[in-house]
Amino acid sequence: MERIDHPLPWSHLGSERSLSVFRFGQGERKAYIQASLHADELPGMRTAWELKKRLGELEAQGLLNGVIELVPVANPLGLGQLLLHNHQGRFEAGSGKNFNRDFAELSEPVAQQLDGHLGDDPHANVRLIRQAMLDTLAALPPAATQLQGMQRLLLTHACSADVVLDLHCDAEAALHMYALPQHWPQWRSLSAHLGVKVGLLAEDSGGNSFDEACSLPWLRLSRRFPEAQIPLACLATTVELGGQADTTREQACAHAEGILAFLAEQGLIGGQWPAAAHPHCEGMPFEGTQLLFAPHPGVVSYLRRPGEWVEVGDEIFEVIDPLADRVSTVCAGTSGVLFAVERQRYAQPGLWLAKVAGREALRHGRLLND
Ligand SMILES: [Zn+2]
Repeated sequence: MERIDHPLPWSHLGSERSLSVFRFGQGERKAYIQASLHADELPGMRTAWELKKRLGELEAQGLLNGVIELVPVANPLGLGQLLLHNHQGRFEAGSGKNFNRDFAELSEPVAQQLDGHLGDDPHANVRLIRQAMLDTLAALPPAATQLQGMQRLLLTHACSADVVLDLHCDAEAALHMYALPQHWPQWRSLSAHLGVKVGLLAEDSGGNSFDEACSLPWLRLSRRFPEAQIPLACLATTVELGGQADTTREQACAHAEGILAFLAEQGLIGGQWPAAAHPHCEGMPFEGTQLLFAPHPGVVSYLRRPGEWVEVGDEIFEVIDPLADRVSTVCAGTSGVLFAVERQRYAQPGLWLAKVAGREALRHGRLLND
């Protein structure tokens, strides 16, 4: 195992922050796993600790058939953001920017570099494109902020990987994951190893989040150069490992073993691995996800639990105003998987309270809600 510590630019005077990458194994193929880019989403960090121990063992046993890079603390900036004892890990406090948005878009500069150089050998194209991605990132002007510097380091490690797992969680939730529709056949196995309840599939959710910054350039390049053989060579997903409180040892060990079994199927780890413990789940269009809001302020009572299948018209939660004796029941507007609910129990304007993944497209354009 090799530890790589990158100092982050723009640290405050008198302090220094760094980003640590743990690299296991060697070989041509590579997986990249990062945790807690939204710094208050800690199931991923807890799982990464189990992965770190297990990868050390597997490396010592000579069972790693490729490189696996692990970033257990992907966001040292957000980890330090406490406000009145509450952790604010989703947005950078100074700028209000979501830590998982606006990663560098690589397809356009790579296309300009490689126009006329891509042929009918897919392996050669993959090598050329990865090198052009790394060259593009290295040639960018110096990072203007600590956030930008951190995002570039993460993308630099991930963009040359065959498999990228970005470990997040939702508020209170069943496991779910985001990916390109074209990659879903390959992800179904991971869903079965982890017990994921639904895959949310979109080509472009509109925010240049980390997983799409890794996977989407390949799709764009394959369409830009249809005469060249360009595979969708970076299998990248955001995995939501349940809700924010799901950091038990049992959950983390199960998640780590599921991830390792999937990486073994991908050829990155040797040895014998158990079959998936769950059925694989359905992939649904992310455009089919309905966000449910309260019609007025009040205290919230949930009537269903995350992970349940709900039908149109099923009651999901009620909102109670005890001053005006007003009680509103909010129902599902689509049939599908109720995959997440809010942790806060006080309904406020603009605060989503439940998310249902359905099969029919309901929304278009930017799909991310913040
Ligand atoms: Zn997140």
